[in-house]
Amino acid sequence: MACVSFPYDAPVSQTLFDRASLVTPGGVNSPVRAFRAVGGTPRFMVSGTGPYLTDADGREYVDLVCSWGPMILGHSHPEVIAAVQEAVARGTSFGTPGEGEVALAEEIVARIEPVEQVRLVSSGTEATMSAIRLARGFTGRAKVVKFAGCYHGHVDALLAAAGSGVATFGLPDTPGVTGAQASDTIVLPYNDLEAVRTAFAAHPGEIACVITEASPGNMGVVPPLDGFNAGLKEICAADGALYISDEVMTGFRTSKAGWFGVDGVRPDLMTFGKVMGGGFPAAAFGGRADVMAHLAPVGPVYQAGTLSGNPVATAAGLAQLRLLDDAAYAKVDAVSAEIRALVSEAFTKEGVAHTVSAASNMFSVFFTDQPVRNYEDAKKQEAFRFTAFFHSMLAQGVYLPPSAFESWFVSTTHDTQAVERIAAALPAAARAASEATA
Ligand code: PLP
Repeated sequence: MACVSFPYDAPVSQTLFDRASLVTPGGVNSPVRAFRAVGGTPRFMVSGTGPYLTDADGREYVDLVCSWGPMILGHSHPEVIAAVQEAVARGTSFGTPGEGEVALAEEIVARIEPVEQVRLVSSGTEATMSAIRLARGFTGRAKVVKFAGCYHGHVDALLAAAGSGVATFGLPDTPGVTGAQASDTIVLPYNDLEAVRTAFAAHPGEIACVITEASPGNMGVVPPLDGFNAGLKEICAADGALYISDEVMTGFRTSKAGWFGVDGVRPDLMTFGKVMGGGFPAAAFGGRADVMAHLAPVGPVYQAGTLSGNPVATAAGLAQLRLLDDAAYAKVDAVSAEIRALVSEAFTKEGVAHTVSAASNMFSVFFTDQPVRNYEDAKKQEAFRFTAFFHSMLAQGVYLPPSAFESWFVSTTHDTQAVERIAAALPAAARAASEATA
């Protein structure tokens, strides 16, 4: 890690982190929150309004994480909060069907044409896990193709990544995932259709599905090359495998119809989360009606959830989606472009080699001027520069994702004032990046 000093300016967060570390592994409930990639004290947030977060020490930040994507309308949007309050007042969970679930499913089906039927779940992980099970149940095949650098949640079979000694077969990437759980996973380099053709040629009739992030945001933002998603769809269709597009991150963010609205490639199954929950645990998977008909109680593939379609979560998600019209996306796209230009300008002024990579309004910075088409390329960047950049921005009141390999997110509430705060912080942060040493 680069040598960066952390001004000890978060004493309340530090105290909370010390307490948390005694009772929770690493002090956090999701690893990236622990700041391990950048060092220092994770900020414990107490409130959020519009584009701003306030931490336990009373410091305000312009938020460029937006809860890792969901808060596309900013924090505490009055209409979303009102919908939640109204739902909570009627009760928090019934374990029966309810109208909110129907309305949310109808909204998803209306927006995303390839989704004929949808099932609600509580997390993106559950969505991808269920979609893979359904693909295996539907096709009667075992193998799954995924791409290095694509994250689909912590599903056992999908945590496999190719080790250097194995060209194609997955090896467990974490203790606790057995070889058996990973052995049906084939991990391939992203944006490489030839590798996909080779895998299908080696396993004709054995591959249940290809799962890919619709436009990856979990190795930094690395959009699909022209024709990549269309090629995947074609290869899958020719072999009788299903093409699963994971839109947990891009869904309802990169356009009204997510990444499907950008590239128009029709998946057999799709997964959603983040934005569709309005900040609550709601996610979904859906797609072709003939495939979805294999799910219980209609078909034999079991899938269930005590809190699936929770009335408070569905009310939040529905309120958020209904507010996301063309004007909202135009606003998010415009502010994203504005911030990207400012970031690039600041690095250029300091002579820092960089690439600002964008997929619609999602973006991230790679500290390299070489093209980044896959995870191997992404890993070649000078990530140590990000550490210095991150801490300078944090000290100046701008909250970035605490890793060089994550997407930045903006909202409809990132207004001129928020952008000015970012612009004011950038010169010193770009200088810190330029002066950083490995
Ligand atoms: N799929 C993608 C593309 C994601 O980005 C994520 C989470 O970041 C997931 C799946 C898992 O979602 P969750 O964290 O809600 O389980």
